[in-house]
Amino acid sequence: MFPAFLLFFSLPFASAVPATRDHVHNINHPLPATSWYLPRDHPANDLFKRAPGDGVNYAPVGSPTWSSGFPQSTPDPNKLPAEWVNALNAAVAAGKIPNVPQSTNTPGVNPVYPQGVNPNGPEVCSATYKCRHPEDIWDAPPNYFGTGFDDGPLPDTPKLLQFLQQNHETATHFMIGVNILAYPQQFSATFESGGDIAAHTWTHPYMTTLNNLEVLGQLGWTSALIKNSTGGRIPRFWRPPYGDSDNRVRAIAKEIFGLETILWNQDTRDWSLLTGGTTQATIHNSMQQWLSGPKTPGLIVLEHESSDQSVQAFMDAYPLIKSNGWNAMSVAQLAGNGTTYRNAKDSMSSVTPAGILVDDDIVPSGTPSSSSSSSSLVPSSAPPSRSTVMQTLGQSQTPTGSGNSLAATNTPTESAALCNTDTTWSRTLLLACLTVTVLSAWP
Ligand SMILES: [Zn+2]
Repeated sequence: MFPAFLLFFSLPFASAVPATRDHVHNINHPLPATSWYLPRDHPANDLFKRAPGDGVNYAPVGSPTWSSGFPQSTPDPNKLPAEWVNALNAAVAAGKIPNVPQSTNTPGVNPVYPQGVNPNGPEVCSATYKCRHPEDIWDAPPNYFGTGFDDGPLPDTPKLLQFLQQNHETATHFMIGVNILAYPQQFSATFESGGDIAAHTWTHPYMTTLNNLEVLGQLGWTSALIKNSTGGRIPRFWRPPYGDSDNRVRAIAKEIFGLETILWNQDTRDWSLLTGGTTQATIHNSMQQWLSGPKTPGLIVLEHESSDQSVQAFMDAYPLIKSNGWNAMSVAQLAGNGTTYRNAKDSMSSVTPAGILVDDDIVPSGTPSSSSSSSSLVPSSAPPSRSTVMQTLGQSQTPTGSGNSLAATNTPTESAALCNTDTTWSRTLLLACLTVTVLSAWP
């Protein structure tokens, strides 16, 4: 959820207050300068593949170069990168994007679909109507409290970060694109403190009310800005504003950008603290009830870093999380079995679970590359499949997550897939890669 006035508050800042050099932040822990690898298991990887110098020369966060080229407000669906549009068209043609009609929205009321369309039916499965698609994440594993905050970065973000650091906690921050542009300092503080960065769209609309190109812009620009602001990390998770998603929106997020959807199973309504929609006492009572209740399923509570009051509500509830014996953990880490970006383990570590990253797009000069620079979604020479490499190493692939509940005890098996052997240059690193993989699996 998001109070409308905060959005209006933040938007003018995005356009009226250009980032200045007073607030620029060099990215202190980018992905490895020599290479990073994005597993070739998803078309999104080609949309964000490395260009020469990528991972080395990102513009400082907050600088004019960093913000140039990004929309200052609602993205224009006619000014999207051609690669994104081509990917969408290909996915539609392949039947991967369900033809669900757009909903319409009256402020303060849930979006509605045209007459005769069942929002809870299998064709639509609207999260607003609490239809739980099996690939969406609504629950944490038993005994776990999935920590996450929406709508940042904002002026009260540092207060939250300080509290999390004092308590040695990490959270997932579902961030709004225009807020990242408006508050680069707060963004960098979040990333540098090790917070997991996830997407919360560019301007926080009801996503099911948008057409396909508008959905594309909301998600694409957010992922691109997060990538450019985190040394190349591509977000793996997103949360729809107001929890408003359906099969069409979900498919665009997943098929085009590789974004997996995280929702929640309890709502504090803390976004309405400033307008009298709830009180600290009400939130505290709710938290007390949820945290003293059954631990199956685990909790994912909707909370915001949008005001001093909402941050304070979490701080006041935090002792209850501990005293009731919950394991608090960043919800993206729970959902991703510890891997919170598509191409990196987390914000602090520059490597995925493999230990070594190999990018088959970037090779030393003079070394033939097997991968062309075209924007084709299917590389002409695909690297060995993940399962092939898994078999080579005698491992089996474990799907991440199971149904709409998280499986915290899943064995991480991403590592072996990263030992890519597609290029001559890559092969020279294979032995090191396998060695590190084995060592990293050592107890
Ligand atoms: Zn929100």
